[in-house]
Amino acid sequence: MSKTIIVTGASSGFGAMIARALADEGHIVYAGMRHTAGRNAQAVDDLAAYAKEHGVRAEAVELDVTDQASVDAAAAHIIGEHGRIDVVVHNAGHMTLGPVEAFTVEQIASIYDTNVLSTQRVNRAFLPHMRRQRDGQLIWIGSTSARGGTPPWLGPYFAAKAAEDSLAVSIAAEVSRFGIDSTIVVPGSFTTGTNHYAHAGHPDDEATAKEYDELYGTTMDDLLAKQAELSPADADPEEVGRQVAGLVSLPKGQRPFRVYVDPAQDG
Ligand code: NDP
Repeated sequence: MSKTIIVTGASSGFGAMIARALADEGHIVYAGMRHTAGRNAQAVDDLAAYAKEHGVRAEAVELDVTDQASVDAAAAHIIGEHGRIDVVVHNAGHMTLGPVEAFTVEQIASIYDTNVLSTQRVNRAFLPHMRRQRDGQLIWIGSTSARGGTPPWLGPYFAAKAAEDSLAVSIAAEVSRFGIDSTIVVPGSFTTGTNHYAHAGHPDDEATAKEYDELYGTTMDDLLAKQAELSPADADPEEVGRQVAGLVSLPKGQRPFRVYVDPAQDG
């Protein structure tokens, strides 16, 4: 059965892969993107080309997870077109590298905003429709990093993913009475955007960052080496998309609370 699905943060990485994997299964997919012009224009065009080439139904919709008005507008657009929403995939995320001490409270708040508070904005926009339908599915892209600890320099991001994990499990117990399932998909380390340490940046300007690097004795090279260790060269990030598509195809009530996709633990 074809379902109507929104995937947040679908301009790159797992989000783009999840959107395509779901569209390939015959679902109607809205790929939420922070912008549908400017920096995300290429992603919008790529998705349209993919949909045309494969004869699938996937389109970009503007959805900035840090802006309730943007989330509400996306929800109104989708409900206006289809009258329902079957699946929400909470994927949008962002990380910044640095020793915990280096972060200002505002910088940590921004990481929480994109990774955790974002899911609440999206849930508040879509859950009332799922409750009315007495049917729906929430899928959260968590992280093995929610366990905290290593690799170093990811404290605020780890904390945000731990909070997301806790929300996902808590809400599962609450919404099941409405026929809504909630599953957290827990990937290990893959070299998609968020986890591309070299691109993640430090919260400080270059000079201060260097000062912290020296104080804490960690360099970007150390982090990249750790990343290579956790993310084997043959780790296939498309597996996350396949897992999400598999969860959507499972009958209601048979979907697990948690699924791990961790290349470091495979084999
Ligand atoms: P990417 O950077 O490739 O993807 C992140 C996506 O989130 C981008 O599409 C980005 O959009 C979007 N995004 C960021 N801020 C916003 C916003 N305010 N509104 C809407 N979209 C936004 O990273 P990944 O694919 O690696 O990460 C996706 C998810 O997977 C995250 O939740 C991450 O925590 C999780 N994860 C990743 C792992 C990995 O190893 N890569 C491991 C475990 C979990 P834009 O292009 O506009 O910035």
